[in-house]
Amino acid sequence: MAEAKREAVTGIGVARGIAIGRAHLLAPSELEVRQVAIERRDVVHEIARLTRAFAAVRDELDELRSGIAPDAPNEVRAFLDLHRLILEDALLSEAPRDLIRTRLMNAEWALTIQLEEVCRQFEAIDDEYLRERSTDVRQVVERVLNALSEGTPTRVALPKKLAAGERLVLVARDLAPADVLHLKDRADLDLAGFVTELGGPTSHTAILARSLGLPAIVGADGARARIAEGDVVVIDADADLVIANPTEDELHEFRRRSRAEAEHRSQLRRLKGKLARTRDGIPIDLLANIELPRDARDALEAGADGIGLFRSEFLFMDRDDLPSEDEQFEAYAKVARAMKGKPVVIRTLDIGADKVLTETARESLGMGRGAPRPESNPALGLRAIRYCLAYPDLFLTQLRAILRASEVGTVRILIPMLAHVHEIEQAAAFVARAKEQLKERKLKYDARIQLGGMIEVPAAALSLPEFVQRLKFLSIGTNDLIQYTLAIDRTDSSVAHLYDQMHPAVLRLIAQTIRAGVKARIPVSVCGELAGELEMTELLLGMGLRQFSMHPSQILPVKERLFELSFKDSGRFAGRVLRMSDPMKIRHVLQREMQPAAPAVLQ
Ligand code: PEP
Ligand code: MG
Repeated sequence: MAEAKREAVTGIGVARGIAIGRAHLLAPSELEVRQVAIERRDVVHEIARLTRAFAAVRDELDELRSGIAPDAPNEVRAFLDLHRLILEDALLSEAPRDLIRTRLMNAEWALTIQLEEVCRQFEAIDDEYLRERSTDVRQVVERVLNALSEGTPTRVALPKKLAAGERLVLVARDLAPADVLHLKDRADLDLAGFVTELGGPTSHTAILARSLGLPAIVGADGARARIAEGDVVVIDADADLVIANPTEDELHEFRRRSRAEAEHRSQLRRLKGKLARTRDGIPIDLLANIELPRDARDALEAGADGIGLFRSEFLFMDRDDLPSEDEQFEAYAKVARAMKGKPVVIRTLDIGADKVLTETARESLGMGRGAPRPESNPALGLRAIRYCLAYPDLFLTQLRAILRASEVGTVRILIPMLAHVHEIEQAAAFVARAKEQLKERKLKYDARIQLGGMIEVPAAALSLPEFVQRLKFLSIGTNDLIQYTLAIDRTDSSVAHLYDQMHPAVLRLIAQTIRAGVKARIPVSVCGELAGELEMTELLLGMGLRQFSMHPSQILPVKERLFELSFKDSGRFAGRVLRMSDPMKIRHVLQREMQPAAPAVLQ
């Protein structure tokens, strides 16, 4: 028998790691759509078929959603909810009915005509993420078409048999998140990963793969032509590569790497219950950044020492009304209770720039139609504390809600985007006023609640002596500190290459903020993205940082890194780096430090 040909296909790796399994090819997902002109007397029947098909898909999605394990990542629910919303949208559920009625088309035809119309609208959108949502619409429509053709929504056809212990790698033109979930849930199958010809890094299937930790390659053009059913397939998501029928040597090497990865993951899990400390015994707080109350579960799951940044503005976005004091209180109290006494730092509303309220919500604040929209320079405009000071009721409502939540846990208030001392003083006066209002209503709060400030504008980093006198803690928002120090809009891709955290000006501002906090004996944390970047851990530690706040998924890897590092040696290392002036060289030195990793202190 001829040996199967080795094939390598490239794409975009969307979850890390190696997957090895047998290929199963899925038939093209576009369906043959029957196009039939119907008689007027068949209109009712055709509409009823469409209604039944929608109902079948609705039931299927509901069933899937109710079966989601409580510890499944949030994205799993979110994607099913989105597909459910798309299904309910009048553009898909109503418009085809009109087409059946007025143009006498069969249900399938009407539905695909409408699908093309909706996709055309999506294609005109500038934003890549939103443009990609047309894929979700297509996936939902395909489920309805399947239901129309067979009465029930079809699930992907599976290979007849896999040898015991063999894993499956799906190779498809496209996969819907619901398909991935179906397969992941099946007890008789072990899904190792998948390869799709369509999709980009921000497609929902890709995001889902990432949150499930399932190695996958999307955008692998021509994969189904080059990989055959039953081929042994290796997905190397780190190298954006799929290999069908690898050589014996390759397979051996991939198996070794896959075992090493599994071993590393289980080592990381073992670190969960351990307090983070350096090799020379200095304790470090590893805190989580969260956006919604339900994210507190991820923080606990990762063993966070508290919430270092609750981005409260996410409670205010994507809605036309503003959350009431009670609604906010419930949200903050939920997190405070979940964290069981561990600190919860709630950042007051950081609205403005890239985080906006809806037009209707803005109007309810009385901003009026006269205000120039969009602002010509929103990152430098009415944002964060400036916004709150401009809308006293909005600010007071939030402060009262935070204060009330301080009764049920260890809650702290963090003010974003401070640049002036008078902003701290005004914020403190607002807190005092909110306390009085609660006192009048005989409601309880923690009278000694701490007020902290974000250092994310160079003016703040250069006013530290005044700031540390007035604040109980500092949190360095490096995402914005980089933007404002280097005059680079963090949302503008045309200057993204200049957004450089290794710029000595940025590193010096971070170092001097940490130093000022240590000197004044007030805690300082870093809560921007770089707190979770492993190559930055040694440098930040060396600058004297004792609190790192990051996305929950980064907590265990950073903890592992800290166990390898000595506080003392890191200090010397940071001293050397801070004397360097070339960002390229700094990056090179930091990367060199990362390898080879010293054995972790796991016991
Ligand atoms: C920051 O600027 O670093 C930060 C943590 O705040 P955000 O990213 O929400 O602006
Ligand atoms: Mg910020």
